[in-house]
Amino acid sequence: MQTQLADWIRDTPAGVEADSILRKCVHCGFCLATCPTYNLLGDELDSPRGRIYLMKQMLEGAPVTRRTQLHLDRCLTCRACETTCPSGVEYGKLADIGRNLVEEKVQRTGGDRLRRWFLKTTLPHRGLFGFALAVGRVFRAVLPNAVASRVPEVRPRGAIPEARHGRRMLVLAGCVQPSLAPSINASAARLFDRIGISLVEAPQAGCCGAVTHHLNYQEEALGYVKRNIDAWWPHVEAGAEAIVITASGCGTMVKDYGHLLRHDPDYAAKAERISGLARDVSEVIAGERQALAGKFRAPDDRMSIAFHSPCSLQHGLKIVGTVEAILRDAGFTLTPVPDSHLCCGSAGTYSILEPELSKRLLHAKVSALTSGQPAEIATANIGCLAHIATESGVPVRHWIELVEGRLA
Ligand code: SF4
Ligand code: SF4
Repeated sequence: MQTQLADWIRDTPAGVEADSILRKCVHCGFCLATCPTYNLLGDELDSPRGRIYLMKQMLEGAPVTRRTQLHLDRCLTCRACETTCPSGVEYGKLADIGRNLVEEKVQRTGGDRLRRWFLKTTLPHRGLFGFALAVGRVFRAVLPNAVASRVPEVRPRGAIPEARHGRRMLVLAGCVQPSLAPSINASAARLFDRIGISLVEAPQAGCCGAVTHHLNYQEEALGYVKRNIDAWWPHVEAGAEAIVITASGCGTMVKDYGHLLRHDPDYAAKAERISGLARDVSEVIAGERQALAGKFRAPDDRMSIAFHSPCSLQHGLKIVGTVEAILRDAGFTLTPVPDSHLCCGSAGTYSILEPELSKRLLHAKVSALTSGQPAEIATANIGCLAHIATESGVPVRHWIELVEGRLA
């Protein structure tokens, strides 16, 4: 694609990056077939190619309107288009640049600003979110159905082993996951303990910054990124082998720290190192399959599950088939899931900001996941887990909980 960026952006770091991404797009339209919003709405401007045109026009100096913002807001940032694109267009990075510029140029309504401010103020703060969830649990019976369905039951954490092994890895606690499902990291810690690795948390680390970043408070998100780097750095220097992340959405963000801070003279090198050490939990387990061999109980007859691969896992981290192989090793039978490349509609705060589109995607996803009549659904990201559980009718758990539960 030929470009002629406007003077005000052309030579800035964002302009240079956007230009190189835009030039790779050859308008072929292959990406339209796998875009969930294009599938639902049938409007070219709600497709990757249409959004790329809108961002190109803006970067070339055309007026930016509420219409541009609307079509970018409707994008899930699922990155299915990146997986499909034969030219390697990094749509997600372009969308970050485009959204940031639209935010500067188009004033949102007061209600929209307030909703976004509320989300970025509550979700990344573990204590605040935990308190709100506890209140929601107390008053669930009197809450409207739409809200009550988002308040999950307590999931007991279980024991956490002492850090007794020479091999150590850091684990990201995150923001909402410790309140919604403390059982996930606890299961990971117990499983890792069985294969001779201690998982440790750095107390000062917190939210990975993804929620804030995707709500377009990009500078503020860098504050979370730097805080985590500062919290992890002494452990990295002390020999931590990896930074393990049990939510694939957070994993995508941490693997991007190096890119996000590449122009920061104080943090660029450290951020690059942190990104290099970041591992989705499935990547670590896949490397330790020998150590796990023979540690599982014999299969029983309630072992049929459907696996929902989050967009952040398959399109963001490009991890495909790894979790499924681990689940089979543990004795599970996987039921078929049609259209498994499509988003469930969770997408960070999308289910709150774009509830109608999100609901339609959720209905389709639940129908696909339950079509093989699984006893349970497994997934790899807390946002998808909580979202799918609102209407699945069968339990939804992180796959690491299921695998750890199979240890003899
Ligand atoms: S990120 Fe997802 S929703 Fe957005 S344009 Fe790409 S495929 Fe469509
Ligand atoms: S598939 Fe890639 S090259 Fe083709 S239109 Fe979509 S983004 Fe552009």
